[in-house]
Amino acid sequence: MSVLVIADHDLGVLSPATARVVHAVSELGPIDLLVLGHGTTDIATEAAKLAGVTKVLVADSPNTADGDSLVIERFANGYSYIVQSAGSVGKDRLPRVAAKLDIMPVTDIVEVLGPTRFIRPIYAGNALQTVTDNQAKHVLTIRASAFRAAATGNNAPIETIENAVVSAAKLIAQHRTESDTPDLATAQIVVGGGVALGSANKFQLIEQLAKKLGAAIGATRAAVDAGYAPNDWQVGQTGKIIAPDLYIAIGISGALQHLAGIQGAKKIVAINSDSEAPLVKLADVALIGDLFEIIPQLLTELDKAGVKR
Ligand SMILES: Cc1cc2nc3c(=O)[nH]c(=O)nc-3n(C[C@H](O)[C@H](O)[C@H](O)COP(=O)(O)OP(=O)(O)OC[C@H]3O[C@@H](n4cnc5c(N)ncnc54)[C@H](O)[C@@H]3O)c2cc1C
Repeated sequence: MSVLVIADHDLGVLSPATARVVHAVSELGPIDLLVLGHGTTDIATEAAKLAGVTKVLVADSPNTADGDSLVIERFANGYSYIVQSAGSVGKDRLPRVAAKLDIMPVTDIVEVLGPTRFIRPIYAGNALQTVTDNQAKHVLTIRASAFRAAATGNNAPIETIENAVVSAAKLIAQHRTESDTPDLATAQIVVGGGVALGSANKFQLIEQLAKKLGAAIGATRAAVDAGYAPNDWQVGQTGKIIAPDLYIAIGISGALQHLAGIQGAKKIVAINSDSEAPLVKLADVALIGDLFEIIPQLLTELDKAGVKR
């Protein structure tokens, strides 16, 4: 029962999601980690440090979901489990792999109960489903934020695999949003803002507080739709799923679709003028009042406390 975990990486850096996926599947069998892409030597070196990894495999790939899934299919023979995080790359690749292998994938797993039993959320996180997967081979995506990261200190061997696949798809260009804030999906602190901010200009208050705390920035769909925040900051059912140690929700009512994305948050602080707002009721700590008074006060207090970022 061996496991092939596909590493997530970006801009030459191994994503923290990979360590969490390795920890999630550590009970399923010996783990080989596959690093796909060009010029991935540093990523493979980082991956080899993860506890529980037996071997790191490095393979060139066309860098498209179609091409990558062809490469993964070639490796699939030797493994009982093929696993990646349920991030945007894994969600694109693994269903293709499953289709090629004629297997039903089990997606967005938040708990591994045993070799064939997994828990995953359904109905926008309002219910949890236990799935028994009795197929001979398993294709799984893991909600990385639901698991702790594997420890480091390992020194697994790294093997480069020669491989040449011919893919119908070709990567023409990539357009990226530049950001110096942490990745939303794996951040320890997230500061989220709602439509109450009133404009993109005023949304910078959220960005200031987030920067001060070294936090990632989140937004509600209403704030994104109003053009106050970019699309990739959206948290919720149709946005990103977060599981920070601390979520500071500012001017956010707490609609079900938003709550679907923050169920993994360990502590929630709500700042809202309405003491009856659903998120205020759910929060561990609520500050009732005008966000335009409270945030500047918070920033001043953080300055006084010597918090500098
Ligand atoms: C199919 C579908 C999918 C959706 N997916 C998502 C999703 O992924 N993520 C998401 O977030 N939403 C999603 N939504 C939208 C969701 O239903 C809500 O409309 C949205 O989350 C509300 O955003 P909000 O909290 O910013 O706005 P509102 O609900 O309008 O809340 C604003 C809050 O700010 C408070 N407030 C106002 N002024 C101040 C002030 N000066 N100081 C302090 N507090 C103040 C108010 O008391 C209120 O609680 C989805 C909806 C649908 C139908």
